Amino acid sequence: METALLYYQDVYLRESSAKILDIKTDTQGPWLLPDQTIFYPGGGGQPADSGTINGKTVESIRKEEKQIWHLVPGFQDKAGDSIHMKIDWQRRFYMMQQHSGQHLISNVAMDYKFNTVSVHFGEDHTLIEFDTAQAEARILTELEEKVNTLIRDHLPLHIHWADREAAKKFPLRRPAGDWELLRILEIEGRDYSACGGTHVSNTAEIGLVKIIGTEKIRGHLRIQFVIGQKAYAYFSTLHQGASALRQALQTEPQHFAERAADLQDELSRQKKQSIFYRTSFLSVESKRLSEDATDTFVFKRLPDGFAEDAAWLAKSIVNDFSKPAFLLSGERFYFLTPKNSALDAALFLKKFGADFSMRGGGPSDFVQGIIKSPDDLKLKQTLNDFMK
Ligand SMILES: [Zn+2]
Repeated sequence: METALLYYQDVYLRESSAKILDIKTDTQGPWLLPDQTIFYPGGGGQPADSGTINGKTVESIRKEEKQIWHLVPGFQDKAGDSIHMKIDWQRRFYMMQQHSGQHLISNVAMDYKFNTVSVHFGEDHTLIEFDTAQAEARILTELEEKVNTLIRDHLPLHIHWADREAAKKFPLRRPAGDWELLRILEIEGRDYSACGGTHVSNTAEIGLVKIIGTEKIRGHLRIQFVIGQKAYAYFSTLHQGASALRQALQTEPQHFAERAADLQDELSRQKKQSIFYRTSFLSVESKRLSEDATDTFVFKRLPDGFAEDAAWLAKSIVNDFSKPAFLLSGERFYFLTPKNSALDAALFLKKFGADFSMRGGGPSDFVQGIIKSPDDLKLKQTLNDFMK
């Protein structure tokens, strides 16, 4: 019993009927052996097809010699029955675009003496590792342009089946494995590779190839590509982002980098300015608060979000004017006392913290934390009593 490989006879078949030859059930569920299949079982880096049999999801595909087994949990029919299979065509076609695109890229890369070491076919992008440590940006642009020109040249792709003797007349890009019968993919007149994957029949169907990144790996250069429909998806996403930025930055995409640099300069200038004015203001403010204080200590609430300034002010009041300081901003509080004074801020927290739902801690001259039920009047009064 063997399975006829319909995906080799007509790679564009999206649906087909078949007959069940056998069913084996294991812990994963029933595995079907059909007399023919359109499901590519995976191999050569290309993932297996996804799809349905009689409307039920094919969860896994396994190739054993000349048999292709399909795992279909919940499948009820028996051997001898007819089934209907359907592959996820959009995904399969993308795999065909991706795989064919990779052959073309690897071929063009040879013009620069870059040999393909490994490939990874992803759901969104493709990784190809070359046996070169680096490549100039100019070379990568040229490579990409050549690949896209060959796509537009709509070169046919051919499949040749050849035994070992016949295979010798094909100038294979990479040495083939030890097979009795080789399946050779030809990009007309340009590239010959032994490959068992599924491919488009013409380079024009690849659509578009774009380099989107490079990285160094094990001393090699790995290039990230988007191919075919995923190149289109990538472009759409990019365009959405660019449209939003165009509105926000009020400039065209070719000026984005320039505008972003200008904004960064402006931001760092304003930051410097703000630090200057802020420290000047806080110095004046700590002096004013210290001198105007009617009590023996300074009590001050700053607006929400000014916790950092509250801490800064408290330190300045204590260090420069030797006055205890209790400052708040939102739920944050800082209670600082002069080093040589007998006032113990930690003791205050211990004795009265619970009355104001305060949490925090620190040494006797510096406590800070969160205050959940601040009653500023009562708090000030309690501090007054504590300091007498
Ligand atoms: Zn291939």
